[in-house]
Amino acid sequence: MIKHHPSAELIAAHAAGELSAALSTAISAHCELCDHCQQLLLDVEDELAFALFAAPHTTDTAPAKIDDICHDIIQQTPTATAVEHTARYVCINNRNYRLPSALQHTKLQPWHRFGPISRMRFELEQVDGSRISLLHMEAGGKIQHHTHQGQEFTLVLAGSFADEDGRYQQGDIVLRDGQHQHSPHSEQGCLCLTVVDAPLHFTKGLSQVLNLFGHSIY
Ligand SMILES: [Zn+2]
Repeated sequence: MIKHHPSAELIAAHAAGELSAALSTAISAHCELCDHCQQLLLDVEDELAFALFAAPHTTDTAPAKIDDICHDIIQQTPTATAVEHTARYVCINNRNYRLPSALQHTKLQPWHRFGPISRMRFELEQVDGSRISLLHMEAGGKIQHHTHQGQEFTLVLAGSFADEDGRYQQGDIVLRDGQHQHSPHSEQGCLCLTVVDAPLHFTKGLSQVLNLFGHSIY
């Protein structure tokens, strides 16, 4: 069961088109896995549509008629579940993972391996410098203690991982920034979607060497 969701504010910003393409893609991918947030998104989109169509005419048109028109338009709008997609998979360690529909058409670069961690970047134009990637952690894998110079948004697509604050399973999202320090690890392995807008900053052990790695996996 999904326990960690994006905030209502983040879903509203996504519906209003105010988020970066990378973050918007990640929110869409979460809503595809989460019935609760998918309904929340549909409700916000309905409210926005009513506001958009009703606002310019409120002074000179009867409100009841506008409501009828808006209702008809919303009824005719196809929902995400009604759209058919060809399934897209990525393969790593001889295992295929199905990607969410939100990621069906975005170009992918090859896998880059860093020990038990592998990273595959999406080719998505980003004006704010953020990057969207798949991050695969092998069973028993761990990322050393680090903090963030920017924001890190993680969506678990398969498997699970844990850090100092909790355990995260398929569909869960985790938001971390410079206020957090953590060391994610996975007993069974996991595939995550990450949106990061600055390199990870390692804080313990061989931090100077690890910070080169931090630039590579973000
Ligand atoms: Zn949710």
